[in-house]
Amino acid sequence: MSQTGFDLQSFLNYVRQEHPDRFLVISDPVPRDFTSTALTLELEKLDRGPILFFENVEGYEIPLVANLYASRDHVAWGLNTDSDCLYERISQALDALAPAERVAKGTVQEVVWRSDEADLDRLPIPRHFAQDAGPYITAGMIAARDPHSGVGNLAYARLQHRGPRLLGASVHSRQHLWDYHRRAEAAGKDLPVAVVIGAHPAVMLAAAAKLGIDQDEYDLAGALLDRPLEICRGVTVDVDVPANAEIIIEGHLRADERGPEGPFGEYPGYASHRSTNNVLEVSAITMRRNPIFVDIVPGNSREHLILGHVSYEAWVYKRMKEALPFFVDFNFPFSGIHFHAYVRIDKSAEGQAQQAAQLLFGLDQFTKLVVVVDKDIDIFDEQEVLWAIATHVQADRRVSITSNTIVNRLDPSSADGLGSKMVIDATRPLDWEAKRVSLPDDAIAFARKLIHGENR
Ligand code: MN
Repeated sequence: MSQTGFDLQSFLNYVRQEHPDRFLVISDPVPRDFTSTALTLELEKLDRGPILFFENVEGYEIPLVANLYASRDHVAWGLNTDSDCLYERISQALDALAPAERVAKGTVQEVVWRSDEADLDRLPIPRHFAQDAGPYITAGMIAARDPHSGVGNLAYARLQHRGPRLLGASVHSRQHLWDYHRRAEAAGKDLPVAVVIGAHPAVMLAAAAKLGIDQDEYDLAGALLDRPLEICRGVTVDVDVPANAEIIIEGHLRADERGPEGPFGEYPGYASHRSTNNVLEVSAITMRRNPIFVDIVPGNSREHLILGHVSYEAWVYKRMKEALPFFVDFNFPFSGIHFHAYVRIDKSAEGQAQQAAQLLFGLDQFTKLVVVVDKDIDIFDEQEVLWAIATHVQADRRVSITSNTIVNRLDPSSADGLGSKMVIDATRPLDWEAKRVSLPDDAIAFARKLIHGENR
């Protein structure tokens, strides 16, 4: 049995009880707009990332939770593991999908709003950044069915609140949902969809993973939960939704219709105008009796960077491990918004740093700087990585640049999706002679006792 249960509220109860320092309840009334983003980003400056539970959003009955995944620990708790084993846990699940189980009716359909009652203005959908086009649903996972094969898909898309029953949508990463819509549109049909807001971390993680087009993200959620995910049919659309989700918005992605969407604060930390400008017309909103609205703080918040990338990192990590016996691990530092990676190797031959970097570029097209260090360097401490560069690197011999490669289209320094990849080999040569200074263990222990007292 999972320690965090099978729905979002059981996960929140777990964190609230077992890790109270990571759960901040705000009971006072707060303005809907900008509050979750501002509080999250101010806490990040203090190196803090608690889950934020806003009990009272001014003008709304439904509470709002934000910053669910500002630490990899939170993701790991949700997957019944710890952060050291997170990549292994996810990559094992990727190889052991567990088909979902259909139930007649879900708790997410305890309350059903149809036609004019299905009013988006009743949900506490916030604005996040001053540059955004409007309020956005940022934690919306769009469930849909392949118009030909019937296989399900679940993927995040940003959703702009444009009217009581109207959302602007962008599927600019052009993956499965985009392909479903393209094929439905070619047949002259709208694509039925259900926007899932709030579910167990296993579901929220699965929606950010990259699977084959013949694989259903619900089946990955089941593998991460260690039991099949319960799903039920939508009330107005032929789309399956997680039976124990918080809120579902049902509707259609319109064929042959486009509308304004964006700009919106994307994960590089810039407002992006890039959009497919899709139009989502709402047909029903369903929810459990006491639902919680989930907000993912966008832009380059830690939560956005972790949730957006951890599943893919796990996939890359597994392949690096398989291919390179000398590969130890990697870190995508928050400062580098997943464009930068620090790679640690246990070097036994010259040239291995370059091999590890090139494999990483091949597996992850959006990485554009790889710094390779020896295994004694703490890649989660940027000071140490920069120290390794400062003391091990002469740029004319240790830096290499490859031109005309693919980079992320959200990268504001590239106008056309093309750019370059840089490797900094900050490993020591095998014949290195300089000795790194160090201290006897008991001297360190004594100093720590002076600082922290006897018990630490
Ligand atoms: Mn998919």
